[in-house]
Amino acid sequence: MGNIVAIVGRPNVGKSTLFNRLTKSRQAIVNEVAGTTRDRQYGKVEWCGHEFSVIDTGGWVVNSEDIFEEEINKQVALAIEEADVILFVVDVMNGVTNLDDHVADILRKCKKPVFLIANKSDSNEWQYTAAEFYSLGLGDPYCISAINGAGTGDLLDEVVAKFPNVENEELEEELPKVAVVGRPNAGKSSIINAFIGEDRNIVTDVAGTTRDSIYTRYNKFGFDFYLVDTAGIRKKGKVTEDLEYYSVIRSIRAIENSDVCVLMIDATRGIESQDLNIFSLIQKNKKGLVVCVNKWDLVENKSNKAIKEFESAIRERFAPFVDFPIIYTSALTKQRIFKVLESVSEVYKNRKNHVPTAKLNEEMLSVIENYPPPAHKGKYVKIKYITQIKGSFVPTFIFFCNLPQWVKEPYKRFLENQIRSKWNFTGTPINIFMREK
Ligand code: GDP
Ligand code: GDP
Repeated sequence: MGNIVAIVGRPNVGKSTLFNRLTKSRQAIVNEVAGTTRDRQYGKVEWCGHEFSVIDTGGWVVNSEDIFEEEINKQVALAIEEADVILFVVDVMNGVTNLDDHVADILRKCKKPVFLIANKSDSNEWQYTAAEFYSLGLGDPYCISAINGAGTGDLLDEVVAKFPNVENEELEEELPKVAVVGRPNAGKSSIINAFIGEDRNIVTDVAGTTRDSIYTRYNKFGFDFYLVDTAGIRKKGKVTEDLEYYSVIRSIRAIENSDVCVLMIDATRGIESQDLNIFSLIQKNKKGLVVCVNKWDLVENKSNKAIKEFESAIRERFAPFVDFPIIYTSALTKQRIFKVLESVSEVYKNRKNHVPTAKLNEEMLSVIENYPPPAHKGKYVKIKYITQIKGSFVPTFIFFCNLPQWVKEPYKRFLENQIRSKWNFTGTPINIFMREK
């Protein structure tokens, strides 16, 4: 299960520098999604066989010197609610400030593991200065330098050791895990209630966990799958949701633990930055996608032309990924509720699609012959053989060729579109890799 580490602290102590250091090794191999914002505040880290997410909660609030106490209160409350481990960063060159004291007061009361990070300890001498941070009452300060990397390896060792020991949930592997995500008030709880109806017996918590299960089994009308974090959605957090990034951070765990995400969009508001941020999280995690344009009952103009415009506006904002189902729903009147579940099942099925190698080569090699990769410095890229990896988590195609490094994004996109036009991968991202033969 994905663990989450949150970085908190006042402005300028080095939170984003630390975030970059922790995620750097990974960032290089993760494809950046074009046109997304907020990429700097969410990333993945791999350390000694543990993979976890790190969020720079400070990066989501306005980073100004005169940060309000109220603002930092929310930042810290959010970290306490959502994270498994909290990194509280202070600045050894600056010493203890009132705001540090204030944050420490809150963190001392929380039950999650907190690491006190004395950042900017660029050389060993600073460890003597760091002793003043004992006054914060959070134990030993960890002296690190986010800039030169000193101490960060030891810190990571200790962080991963603190992850909660969760027994594996007893899930039936063959069933899809579905997360309903979206901005506050888009209709997430309403649609889940519409799925479940009055009949409580059809949802059962999954046994075998040491903490609250995040999976609920749904078995009705021929559908059988897990809803992710249903309780979390219905409960609603303690932190007020008046700032947009809260809903995004809230979605992280649910998205990471799902196969297919239902992204709820409020038809009366259109697509806003928050929707794009959640979409970008779904993309980064390579999950399946079904978009629900909800509150369709409130939309007056439902002409075919209006629907077409709505649809192309959505695909334009989410480009280059455009091959996903869009469904116009009303959680209130239950209009097209089952269509959502059918689409989810279809997307899940598409993620498991496997194109036989012979068929793949037969169809794609002739496409490539008619439209080969552009020549580079007078040399030609020759694609010889294509295969789809069996049993991978996301459909993954390997193109064997002589000069893989010269095949650029636009051509890969062309190949992807060709694959999508020939076989059904609607709703799922696919990977296109070039390898030397
Ligand atoms: P944030 O506002 O907490 O995210 O802080 P930043 O990461 O933006 O860093 C604030 C300033 O401190 C920048 O000028 C960084 O270059 C600097 N800084 C961050 N980490 C270190 C460090 O380990 N040593 C030194 N000397 N400077 C650092
Ligand atoms: P959440 O914050 O995403 O879980 O949103 P809720 O499910 O709590 O819905 C927010 C508000 O929108 C509530 O007042 C709902 O009754 C209302 N709502 C949700 N879905 C629909 C819908 O399809 N049509 C209409 N008219 N109202 C809806």
